[in-house]
Amino acid sequence: MSQINPFYSRLVSGYLFPEIGRRTREFISNNPDRTIFRMGIGDTTRPLAPSVVTAMTAAVQELGVLKTYSGYGDSEGTNPLRVAISNYYQELGCEITTNEIFVSDGAKSDSANIQSIFATDNIIGFQDPAYPVYVDSNVIAGRSQGLGENAQYKDFVYLECNAENGFIPQVPTQKVDILYLCFPNNPTGAVATRAQLQAFVDWANANQSIIIYDAAYSWFITDPELPRSIYEIEGAKKCAIEIQSFSKFAGFTGVRLGWSVVPQDLVCSDSQAGELNKIWTRRQNTMFNGASNIAQAGGVAALSEIGRRECQETIDYYMQNAKLIKTSLEALGLDCFGGDNAPYIWVKTPNGLKSWEFFDKLIQEAGVVGTPGSGFGPSGEGYFRFSAFANRESVELALESIRGNLKI
Ligand SMILES: *Cc1c(COP(=O)(O)O)cnc(C)c1O
Repeated sequence: MSQINPFYSRLVSGYLFPEIGRRTREFISNNPDRTIFRMGIGDTTRPLAPSVVTAMTAAVQELGVLKTYSGYGDSEGTNPLRVAISNYYQELGCEITTNEIFVSDGAKSDSANIQSIFATDNIIGFQDPAYPVYVDSNVIAGRSQGLGENAQYKDFVYLECNAENGFIPQVPTQKVDILYLCFPNNPTGAVATRAQLQAFVDWANANQSIIIYDAAYSWFITDPELPRSIYEIEGAKKCAIEIQSFSKFAGFTGVRLGWSVVPQDLVCSDSQAGELNKIWTRRQNTMFNGASNIAQAGGVAALSEIGRRECQETIDYYMQNAKLIKTSLEALGLDCFGGDNAPYIWVKTPNGLKSWEFFDKLIQEAGVVGTPGSGFGPSGEGYFRFSAFANRESVELALESIRGNLKI
């Protein structure tokens, strides 16, 4: 007698983006003559770097020739890409060897799958608000009894991020075995300083806890004092797994490529050094057959000197958008956070409006679609996310419409 996985029914249904779509369609059908400006999208809009296109085109050509055709590769990734990633860490002053690097098809799958190498009875902690994958993957794994009070899942520890703490929480005071951190943060745009990250690493090492560090937006850091990798922090190799992505760095959201670092030194309370690295190797060998060889050729090019320069130009373009959005909204008297080292601007809704109330007001008055903060967790209530991933003209038109039409 077959039975369904009961943990899926503990998930609150994916509500945020379908609901944004529904309300936007409704507005368009009621207002067919109005122009809509989308400032809510967490997806890149600029084309791939020329050197990446050249490398991927060459990789496709090789696949079309008998002599250079290749099939399956190592599930951990090609050697040239793992060497390029290791060199990237070297530049940051971090010693990460190729056998600690696991190439993947993106940070989303890794951040969802990584919990599977840890026991079910670990207590999970998150920043609130957060990228929903961390929470949902642990609900599906059976680590929560389901939704409880205050829109929080039972059994999880929520570290509240708000304007008062600059959206960087203190280290947990209650028991947390596995803590997800994301800096620069989606959705708040906050970035932890070295000292703040050191406090988390020291806490994790003192409590035999593990940090899962999502660094997908590290490429948007402009302040040279801010850490781009958790391995810049002393002691991090003993307690932290880092997850990275080519999506936001090189516009690979559709191409699909990322990586995770599981250091040899990483230990949890009942493991030896090297064991977690071995188990993640086993997990990937069993359940993953490697990222596309074409995408990996593109990844090597993106990490080359010229590729980095080209990708940086695109990042600078998005960050100009971010600056434009932040200064324009601030000029209207709105409280804005993030946007300096991240492509997201996190705005306090005016006059105490709820996130969805502001969504409706913004689309009605200005025709602008953004993302309600409450969709990222209960502490996101009363905030709103604007994204810098857009073309300049559309950002300028959207801001003009907000300036001219939004009644604050
Ligand atoms: C966009 C994003 C990623 C990237 O995911 P991919 O699967 O690599 O496209 C990872 N983490 C966060 C928080 C993101 O916003």
